[in-house]
Amino acid sequence: MIRIGIDLGGTHIKIGAVNEDGRLVKWLQAETGAGRPFPVIIGDIAAGIRQLLGELGLTESDIASIGAGVPGYADDRTGRAINCTNLGWLDEPFRNEMQCYFDCPVHVENDANAAALAENSVGVSKGCGISVLITLGTGLGSGIVLHGKPLTGFHGAAGEVGHMTLVPDGLLCNCGRAGCVERYCSATALVTHARQACLTWPDNGILRLAGGDPKAITGKMVIDAAKAGDEIAMRIFMTFAHYLAVTIDNVINFIDPEMVVLGGGISRAGTFLLDAVKSYIPPCEMGQKRPMPRIELAALGNEAGMIGAAML
Ligand SMILES: [Zn+2]
Repeated sequence: MIRIGIDLGGTHIKIGAVNEDGRLVKWLQAETGAGRPFPVIIGDIAAGIRQLLGELGLTESDIASIGAGVPGYADDRTGRAINCTNLGWLDEPFRNEMQCYFDCPVHVENDANAAALAENSVGVSKGCGISVLITLGTGLGSGIVLHGKPLTGFHGAAGEVGHMTLVPDGLLCNCGRAGCVERYCSATALVTHARQACLTWPDNGILRLAGGDPKAITGKMVIDAAKAGDEIAMRIFMTFAHYLAVTIDNVINFIDPEMVVLGGGISRAGTFLLDAVKSYIPPCEMGQKRPMPRIELAALGNEAGMIGAAML
């Protein structure tokens, strides 16, 4: 038997077949075509699952379950995708629609929660009683796993670290509020900060990597320039690391996890990122040494979303 895991993004749909050991056996990817009607996208996913089964020489009866991680709020109790802004989905009956095609259990969960579950089940935080995954990509996603299950909260909206307030009255966020963590701790934040710096200090290593075009700057360029010792890039990177450390410190104080896992594109900075973040996290509180979780890099990369969705 296999489990199907769907990682549904605003740009791509990834559909994977995961075996009993939590290993991704085979997967395929299609364009999401966000903005199309909900039933049409579900129809595409169903077709993708059938194609995957065909490639594996399997039939529908070999599917133990189907799970999906969606980019937004979801409620697995009702099987509904509550709000996925990137897809234009509002309270859509994900499970019901999927069961028009497949007669097996169907689960739906926030994508970061699914990825956190994958790391907790077969990745770096395997076996941890409480772990938190923070993904540093275009935005900041996060998921909490408590005793082997995603901590979803009452409304399916728990663990939204990216929209905790880090700077009161700070930078405006896509969510409509100001000063959210995501505006300071994401690839987008690195790029925004770098472009601003280029206005004042145009002679810097980031802009050279970008071929002189501020619009071409990426988060990776900021990190590469910082690693190469560029002073401006290093200042931007350390500010980013400081904000991220404060965020992680708040998470630690709030739920005392066994491990905090950093994933997403920016986590490819590796120990350069880990060392910078750790240097800003104070080991003591009120004069006392406190228990500290391990802070580690994610192990599963882009596969985490599919594997975690399959494990739902
Ligand atoms: Zn926000």
